[in-house]
Amino acid sequence: FLAGRTALVTGSTSGIGLAIAEALGAAGARVVVNGLGSAEQIEAALAAVRAAGAEDAWLEAADLSDPAAIEAMMQRLGERGAVDIVVNCAGVQHTAPIGEMPAATWDKLIAINLSAAFHTMRLALPGMVARGFGRVVNIASVHGLVASVNKSPYVASKFGLVGLSKVAALECAGAGSRDSGGVTVNCVCPGWVETPLIEPQIAARAAEHGGDRDAGVRALLAEKQPSGRMSLPSDIAATVLFLCRREAHNLTGAAVPVDGGWTSQ
Ligand code: NAD
Repeated sequence: FLAGRTALVTGSTSGIGLAIAEALGAAGARVVVNGLGSAEQIEAALAAVRAAGAEDAWLEAADLSDPAAIEAMMQRLGERGAVDIVVNCAGVQHTAPIGEMPAATWDKLIAINLSAAFHTMRLALPGMVARGFGRVVNIASVHGLVASVNKSPYVASKFGLVGLSKVAALECAGAGSRDSGGVTVNCVCPGWVETPLIEPQIAARAAEHGGDRDAGVRALLAEKQPSGRMSLPSDIAATVLFLCRREAHNLTGAAVPVDGGWTSQ
């Protein structure tokens, strides 16, 4: 159902973003992959997205902590055609109490997790509004809805992303029509998802259980996620895909939890 659409997925060289890029490609979209990593990792991600169905997928290797690099990327994309879907998925984490959080780490997390989404949106939304169709899906987190200790810049960035998305949803609400699909802006708010991002947190818990990784995972889940199950990246991608459907034209400004009940407590 996405044939003829072009989708930019930031942070799609790994984890959730890669699964989203694959799912959008399988639904027919032309996919632009973005993210960091080794040459092998990036080549493997591109190959996976192409194999999923986006045969002409290409890489935009912009470092999203640099607004000028984002602007240059969006300019290059504009020259290759309209960008119909933007999924802001790039994100980083650092855990420490506020008093021990390096100021430079705060700046970096806010830049990648929050400001980068502002920049892609400010550059992509006007075109979407003019064309009457557009989808922005921002991968926030349960930490855009509730807090946890030791995650000050992460929680601040994700609450900011939820607020930013609601403003954009309001500003674009009247664009397009039911037939064109309109322009919507939403957040998906995952709980624990099995990706490299959370490995350090699993390792810390595993260390408390004599190095047993499964016990570490169980301990993380027992604390906050009532389902007792981690999500797979492809589970999050399925929600993103739904938000991209024409039928979701009135689903905007939402922060959709995919968290096994975490934020229902
Ligand atoms: P991941 O580490 O597997 O992937 C992160 C991606 O972001 C990678 O592609 C990486 O290259 C990219 N990235 C990081 N810094 C970048 C930069 N400066 N410029 C460009 N790209 C950059 O992590 P993930 O778990 O897939 O996380 C994806 C998103 O999902 C993040 O925004 C994260 O906060 C969010 N999230 C993850 C979980 C979870 O449990 N894994 C839960 C809730 C929300």
